[in-house]
Amino acid sequence: MMRAVVATHNAHKVAELQRILSAALPGLELVAYDGPSPVEDGDSFAANALIKARAAAEHTGLVAIADDSGISVDALGGAPGIDSAHYSGSRDDAANVRHLLANLADVPAENRAAQFTCAAALVDPTRADDTREHVELGVWPGRVAFEVAGGGGFGYDPVFIPEGLAVTSAELTADEKNAISHRARAFAALATVMRERYGA
Ligand code: IMP
Repeated sequence: MMRAVVATHNAHKVAELQRILSAALPGLELVAYDGPSPVEDGDSFAANALIKARAAAEHTGLVAIADDSGISVDALGGAPGIDSAHYSGSRDDAANVRHLLANLADVPAENRAAQFTCAAALVDPTRADDTREHVELGVWPGRVAFEVAGGGGFGYDPVFIPEGLAVTSAELTADEKNAISHRARAFAALATVMRERYGA
Protein backbone atom coordinates (compact mmCIF):
# COMPACT_ATOMS: atom_id res chain seq x y z
CA MET A 1 0.00 0.00 0.00
CA MET A 2 1.34 3.39 -0.96
CA ARG A 3 -0.03 6.78 0.09
CA ALA A 4 0.30 9.90 -2.00
CA VAL A 5 -1.11 13.35 -1.44
CA VAL A 6 -2.99 15.25 -4.15
CA ALA A 7 -2.42 19.01 -4.12
CA THR A 8 -5.98 20.08 -4.74
CA HIS A 9 -8.84 21.22 -2.52
CA ASN A 10 -11.27 19.74 -5.04
CA ALA A 11 -12.67 16.38 -3.83
CA HIS A 12 -13.90 15.55 -7.35
CA LYS A 13 -10.36 15.81 -8.67
CA VAL A 14 -9.09 13.41 -5.99
CA ALA A 15 -11.79 10.88 -6.93
CA GLU A 16 -11.09 11.22 -10.66
CA LEU A 17 -7.33 10.79 -10.16
CA GLN A 18 -7.89 7.84 -7.82
CA ARG A 19 -9.79 6.11 -10.66
CA ILE A 20 -7.12 6.84 -13.28
CA LEU A 21 -4.10 5.99 -11.10
CA SER A 22 -5.48 2.89 -9.37
CA ALA A 23 -5.82 1.18 -12.74
CA ALA A 24 -2.01 1.14 -12.86
CA LEU A 25 -1.35 1.08 -9.11
CA PRO A 26 -4.13 -0.86 -7.31
CA GLY A 27 -2.42 -0.36 -3.93
CA LEU A 28 -2.35 3.42 -4.19
CA GLU A 29 -4.27 5.49 -1.64
CA LEU A 30 -4.69 9.17 -2.46
CA VAL A 31 -5.31 11.73 0.25
CA ALA A 32 -6.28 15.36 -0.29
CA TYR A 33 -3.78 18.04 0.69
CA ASP A 34 -5.17 20.50 3.20
CA GLY A 35 -2.10 22.65 3.88
CA PRO A 36 -1.28 26.17 2.73
CA SER A 37 -1.62 26.97 -0.99
CA PRO A 38 1.52 28.29 -2.68
CA VAL A 39 1.55 31.27 -5.06
CA GLU A 40 1.25 29.90 -8.60
CA ASP A 41 3.62 32.29 -10.31
CA GLY A 42 5.21 29.89 -12.80
CA ASP A 43 5.33 30.74 -16.50
CA SER A 44 4.05 27.39 -17.78
CA PHE A 45 1.54 24.65 -16.91
CA ALA A 46 4.47 22.42 -15.87
CA ALA A 47 6.03 25.08 -13.62
CA ASN A 48 2.73 25.74 -11.84
CA ALA A 49 1.98 22.02 -11.38
CA LEU A 50 5.44 21.57 -9.83
CA ILE A 51 4.95 24.55 -7.50
CA LYS A 52 1.76 22.93 -6.14
CA ALA A 53 3.28 19.43 -5.86
CA ARG A 54 6.43 20.75 -4.11
CA ALA A 55 4.37 22.58 -1.50
CA ALA A 56 2.31 19.47 -0.72
CA ALA A 57 5.39 17.21 -0.61
CA GLU A 58 7.27 19.56 1.69
CA HIS A 59 4.30 20.03 3.99
CA THR A 60 3.35 16.34 4.32
CA GLY A 61 6.54 14.38 3.60
CA LEU A 62 4.49 12.22 1.22
CA VAL A 63 4.88 11.69 -2.51
CA ALA A 64 2.78 14.51 -3.96
CA ILE A 65 0.81 14.84 -7.17
CA ALA A 66 -0.57 18.04 -8.65
CA ASP A 67 -1.88 19.32 -11.95
CA ASP A 68 -2.29 22.58 -13.76
CA SER A 69 -4.35 23.00 -16.87
CA GLY A 70 -5.99 25.38 -19.27
CA ILE A 71 -6.98 26.13 -22.84
CA SER A 72 -4.64 27.65 -25.43
CA VAL A 73 -6.07 29.21 -28.59
CA ASP A 74 -3.81 29.46 -31.66
CA ALA A 75 -5.47 32.64 -33.01
CA LEU A 76 -4.81 34.33 -29.64
CA GLY A 77 -1.13 33.40 -29.53
CA GLY A 78 -1.79 30.64 -26.99
CA ALA A 79 -3.99 32.73 -24.66
CA PRO A 80 -5.56 32.30 -22.18
CA GLY A 81 -3.11 29.45 -21.38
CA ILE A 82 -1.98 29.53 -17.75
CA ASP A 83 -4.42 32.42 -17.17
CA SER A 84 -7.45 30.30 -18.16
CA ALA A 85 -9.02 30.25 -14.69
CA HIS A 86 -9.29 34.05 -14.48
CA TYR A 87 -9.20 35.12 -18.14
CA SER A 88 -12.11 37.58 -17.84
CA GLY A 89 -10.71 39.14 -14.68
CA SER A 90 -12.90 36.94 -12.49
CA ARG A 91 -12.87 33.19 -11.81
CA ASP A 92 -16.42 32.85 -13.13
CA ASP A 93 -16.61 30.13 -15.81
CA ALA A 94 -19.48 31.76 -17.75
CA ALA A 95 -17.70 35.13 -17.79
CA ASN A 96 -14.48 33.49 -18.98
CA VAL A 97 -16.32 31.72 -21.80
CA ARG A 98 -18.07 34.97 -22.85
CA HIS A 99 -14.70 36.76 -22.87
CA LEU A 100 -13.16 34.05 -25.06
CA LEU A 101 -16.06 34.09 -27.55
CA ALA A 102 -15.91 37.90 -27.72
CA ASN A 103 -12.18 37.83 -28.44
CA LEU A 104 -12.77 35.31 -31.24
CA ALA A 105 -15.86 37.01 -32.69
CA ASP A 106 -14.20 37.80 -36.03
CA VAL A 107 -12.21 34.57 -36.31
CA PRO A 108 -13.56 32.09 -38.91
CA ALA A 109 -14.08 28.39 -38.20
CA GLU A 110 -10.85 27.29 -39.87
CA ASN A 111 -8.75 29.51 -37.58
CA ARG A 112 -10.32 28.55 -34.25
CA ALA A 113 -7.90 25.72 -33.39
CA ALA A 114 -7.30 25.30 -29.66
CA GLN A 115 -6.05 22.74 -27.20
CA PHE A 116 -6.53 21.85 -23.60
CA THR A 117 -3.24 21.07 -21.85
CA CYS A 118 -2.73 19.41 -18.49
CA ALA A 119 0.60 19.17 -16.70
CA ALA A 120 0.69 16.33 -14.16
CA ALA A 121 3.53 16.72 -11.66
CA LEU A 122 4.99 14.24 -9.19
CA VAL A 123 7.34 15.24 -6.36
CA ASP A 124 8.95 12.54 -4.19
CA PRO A 125 10.45 14.24 -1.12
CA THR A 126 12.40 11.09 -0.19
CA ARG A 127 14.56 11.38 -3.31
CA ALA A 128 17.41 13.83 -3.84
CA ASP A 129 18.40 12.91 -7.41
CA ASP A 130 16.81 13.74 -10.76
CA THR A 131 13.88 11.42 -9.98
CA ARG A 132 12.69 13.82 -7.25
CA GLU A 133 10.51 15.78 -9.70
CA HIS A 134 8.70 14.56 -12.80
CA VAL A 135 6.12 16.16 -15.13
CA GLU A 136 3.96 14.65 -17.88
CA LEU A 137 1.96 16.81 -20.32
CA GLY A 138 -1.37 15.74 -21.78
CA VAL A 139 -2.77 17.62 -24.78
CA TRP A 140 -6.35 17.45 -26.13
CA PRO A 141 -6.63 19.17 -29.53
CA GLY A 142 -9.81 20.73 -30.88
CA ARG A 143 -11.36 24.09 -31.74
CA VAL A 144 -13.48 26.80 -30.18
CA ALA A 145 -17.19 26.79 -31.11
CA PHE A 146 -19.15 29.96 -31.97
CA GLU A 147 -21.65 29.46 -29.17
CA VAL A 148 -22.04 27.43 -25.98
CA ALA A 149 -23.56 23.93 -26.03
CA GLY A 150 -23.95 21.24 -23.41
CA GLY A 151 -24.46 21.14 -19.66
CA GLY A 152 -21.67 18.83 -18.54
CA GLY A 153 -18.07 19.48 -17.56
CA PHE A 154 -16.88 22.87 -16.35
CA GLY A 155 -14.79 25.83 -17.48
CA TYR A 156 -14.46 26.07 -21.25
CA ASP A 157 -16.12 22.69 -21.97
CA PRO A 158 -19.30 24.30 -23.46
CA VAL A 159 -17.24 25.91 -26.26
CA PHE A 160 -14.53 23.28 -26.85
CA ILE A 161 -15.11 20.88 -29.77
CA PRO A 162 -12.57 18.04 -29.50
CA GLU A 163 -10.83 17.00 -32.72
CA GLY A 164 -12.78 14.23 -34.47
CA LEU A 165 -16.05 15.08 -32.71
CA ALA A 166 -19.00 17.28 -33.72
CA VAL A 167 -20.10 18.14 -30.18
CA THR A 168 -18.53 20.14 -27.36
CA SER A 169 -16.81 18.45 -24.42
CA ALA A 170 -19.74 19.67 -22.27
CA GLU A 171 -21.97 17.37 -24.36
CA LEU A 172 -19.91 14.30 -23.44
CA THR A 173 -20.69 12.19 -20.38
CA ALA A 174 -18.17 12.44 -17.55
CA ASP A 175 -16.92 8.94 -18.41
CA GLU A 176 -16.53 9.81 -22.11
CA LYS A 177 -14.61 12.96 -21.30
CA ASN A 178 -12.47 11.32 -18.62
CA ALA A 179 -11.39 8.63 -21.10
CA ILE A 180 -9.87 11.07 -23.61
CA SER A 181 -9.23 14.43 -21.96
CA HIS A 182 -5.92 16.22 -21.51
CA ARG A 183 -6.10 15.32 -17.79
CA ALA A 184 -6.68 11.63 -18.58
CA ARG A 185 -3.72 11.65 -20.99
CA ALA A 186 -1.33 13.37 -18.56
CA PHE A 187 -2.25 11.16 -15.61
CA ALA A 188 -2.23 7.94 -17.65
CA ALA A 189 1.37 8.78 -18.55
CA LEU A 190 2.17 9.65 -14.93
CA ALA A 191 0.55 6.38 -13.78
CA THR A 192 2.95 4.45 -16.03
CA VAL A 193 5.93 6.23 -14.48
CA MET A 194 4.58 5.60 -10.97
CA ARG A 195 4.02 1.90 -11.67
CA GLU A 196 7.61 1.55 -12.91
CA ARG A 197 8.87 3.29 -9.77
CA TYR A 198 6.55 2.18 -7.02
CA GLY A 199 4.68 -0.82 -8.45
CA ALA A 200 5.12 -4.26 -6.94
P1 IMP B 1 -6.64 24.65 -12.85
O1 IMP B 1 -5.84 23.57 -13.52
O2 IMP B 1 -7.49 24.11 -11.75
O3 IMP B 1 -5.79 25.82 -12.49
O4 IMP B 1 -7.72 25.16 -13.92
C1 IMP B 1 -7.40 25.98 -14.98
C2 IMP B 1 -8.61 26.47 -15.75
O5 IMP B 1 -8.51 25.93 -17.07
C3 IMP B 1 -10.00 26.05 -15.25
O6 IMP B 1 -10.52 26.98 -14.36
C4 IMP B 1 -10.79 26.05 -16.54
O7 IMP B 1 -11.19 27.35 -16.85
C5 IMP B 1 -9.77 25.60 -17.57
N1 IMP B 1 -9.83 24.13 -17.76
C6 IMP B 1 -8.89 23.22 -17.39
N2 IMP B 1 -9.29 21.97 -17.70
C7 IMP B 1 -10.51 22.11 -18.26
C8 IMP B 1 -11.45 21.16 -18.76
O8 IMP B 1 -11.27 19.92 -18.72
N3 IMP B 1 -12.59 21.68 -19.25
C9 IMP B 1 -12.85 23.01 -19.29
N4 IMP B 1 -12.04 23.92 -18.81
C10 IMP B 1 -10.86 23.49 -18.31
